[in-house]
Amino acid sequence: MTRSIADTIAALRKELEKHNYNYYVLDNPTISDYEFDMKLKELEALEAAHPEFFDPNSPTQRVGGQITKNFTTVAHKNRMYSLDNSYSKEDLLDWEKRIEKILGTSQVAYTCELKYDGASINLTYENGALKSAVTRGDGVQGDDVTTNIKTIRSIPLHLHDDTLADFEIRGEIILPLDGFNKMNKERVEAGEDPYRNPRNTASGSLKLQDSTEVANRPLDCLLYHVVANYNPFKTHDEALQFASKAGFKIPNTYKVVHSVDEIFEYINFWDTERHKLPYETDGVVVKVNSIAHQEELGYTAKSPRWAIAYKYKAEQKSTVLESISYQVGRTGAITPVANLAPIELAGTIVKRASLHNADQIAKLDIRVNDTVFVEKGGEIIPKVIGVDLSKRPDDSTPTQYIAHCPECNTELIRKEGEAQHYCPNEYGCPPQITGKIQHFISRKATDIEGLGAETVELLYKEGLIQNYADLYELKEEQIIPLERMAEKSAENMVKGIEKSKEIPFERVLFALGIRYVGETVSKKLARHFKSIDRLMEASFDELIQVDEIGDKIAQSIIIFFADEQNRTIVERLKNYGVQLALSAEVLENQKDTLQGKTFVVSGVFEKISRDDLKKSIENNGGKVSSSISKKTDYVIAGDNMGPSKRVKAEELGIPIISEDDYFAMID
Ligand code: AMP
Ligand code: ZN
Repeated sequence: MTRSIADTIAALRKELEKHNYNYYVLDNPTISDYEFDMKLKELEALEAAHPEFFDPNSPTQRVGGQITKNFTTVAHKNRMYSLDNSYSKEDLLDWEKRIEKILGTSQVAYTCELKYDGASINLTYENGALKSAVTRGDGVQGDDVTTNIKTIRSIPLHLHDDTLADFEIRGEIILPLDGFNKMNKERVEAGEDPYRNPRNTASGSLKLQDSTEVANRPLDCLLYHVVANYNPFKTHDEALQFASKAGFKIPNTYKVVHSVDEIFEYINFWDTERHKLPYETDGVVVKVNSIAHQEELGYTAKSPRWAIAYKYKAEQKSTVLESISYQVGRTGAITPVANLAPIELAGTIVKRASLHNADQIAKLDIRVNDTVFVEKGGEIIPKVIGVDLSKRPDDSTPTQYIAHCPECNTELIRKEGEAQHYCPNEYGCPPQITGKIQHFISRKATDIEGLGAETVELLYKEGLIQNYADLYELKEEQIIPLERMAEKSAENMVKGIEKSKEIPFERVLFALGIRYVGETVSKKLARHFKSIDRLMEASFDELIQVDEIGDKIAQSIIIFFADEQNRTIVERLKNYGVQLALSAEVLENQKDTLQGKTFVVSGVFEKISRDDLKKSIENNGGKVSSSISKKTDYVIAGDNMGPSKRVKAEELGIPIISEDDYFAMID
């Protein structure tokens, strides 16, 4: 008896999912909506009567019902990179050249896809079923929005193909134009403000607390990238075909091509044609088709080398420049901002735009009350690109750039060769003070939990902190009485600050906010000098000896530590127990065996992944380069090493070694 109920439930689930697929992915329903609803009701009733057969991936879960108060942040197993942008055929030709150089061949195939304009999502499947859905977030971690994502009918809860059962797949959650317009019509009828554009509405939908509301929105999901540890596919194209068979919606607009000319044909064709699609697209994404090639090309700090986005030309409009205001950044840099008569541009209302710097204002002769051209490209902040001189009022006067800081009234300075003006009042100018502290606590720096940018401003305003060392003196009793603070939040903040004492030296070094000392440079410096004491003593000459440290960075480090206030702050941090030297454990793992040696890694390895191999080289003091040159000391070759790479190494007489040779070398 029980068995037959289990079977009935399983059969109904399967049938309903099939109908969902026919309707939402294939756009080809085979039963009426009414019949579908009847079957769904039947399943709901059976599931309610037999809770022992609950399945989080049952089609009944698609109607929503769950409320999420706080979405949990989870780390991505594989980082979600962004894409480099290109704007012309020349850019693409340059990219092709770089790729051919690294791969050592000109036989490279590409896939061209449209760039769907929505919110990116990472779906994880385990044993052929949807396990979780996480937003991109900052690429390293995002929010778990699984309950909301399940309501999107075109996302398969179970796969239709078993070539691959455990993998991640990435795509874009979009709101098709029809659905968007319908939602807006209903909103306007109900007396509410319409939503601005489909992209923001789609991404906002993912974070709605009530999944029933998400289920009611006509969201869709277009997929574009399969990520698997053991990738059974030879090409990106094969992976997409698998995904399509497995039940995902893969737009059939993509195409495999073999040259930049063909890429450009694709771009030109879709420049006009894309407006006929039911959803918005803002460019084309070109990817190297061979997975082996992709692995060989790898990633930069921000994006894959094997892919590039081409952005369609930005929309331009003209509007009146009402006033210019000036913002002061963490380093004291002044940014002029245009306040505009609001206009709609590429789907959003624009009121402010960047004016870059004094030179730009002078060059374009931008004046208040001018009618200016505004453009919105890939970047979030639109920019003023010119003036409509025919509309200039008679009483117009040239813009006088400010001479004093708008925040602290200190006279501004401008260093030779720099476009930006600076407020030199580093320790007395409010946005510089809070900006430095905000940088110190930011995610890639000390990542202090329980403390955010606004709270830093509040603590500063209340006179509780003047610099980041002051954070470590904060007491709960001081925080509790502040606006919007409670016992719990004060406790969390103090705990978070305490915990930051475990953050490793290299990140603390980055957190200090020394000009030009970014994440990568901090790592190099920490590795080289091993402690802040040794770094502080280092001379200019010693500094520029370090790989990738040039005059500008060295100068900036010297200036920073020459300042008595900075030395005092560093001393205080040390006394609080903040990590200002590499830990014994890290020192243990870091060797200088490969000091001064440059390696090129090519092919696929048996005992170690390509990324781990590169890390190992760096941990042993060596340097990894992407292409073979006279400076290369060794090429480590795995399976499928590019033939022309081999020729090149042989020509230059560079030893080609195996992974085992490498392990022997560092042993
Ligand atoms: P960006 O955010 O400008 O760095 O561009 C990268 C984003 O483009 C990715 O995070 C994806 O969300 C999105 N995207 C849209 N369509 C595609 C596509 N066909 N292939 C890869 N990424 C895409
Ligand atoms: Zn100032």
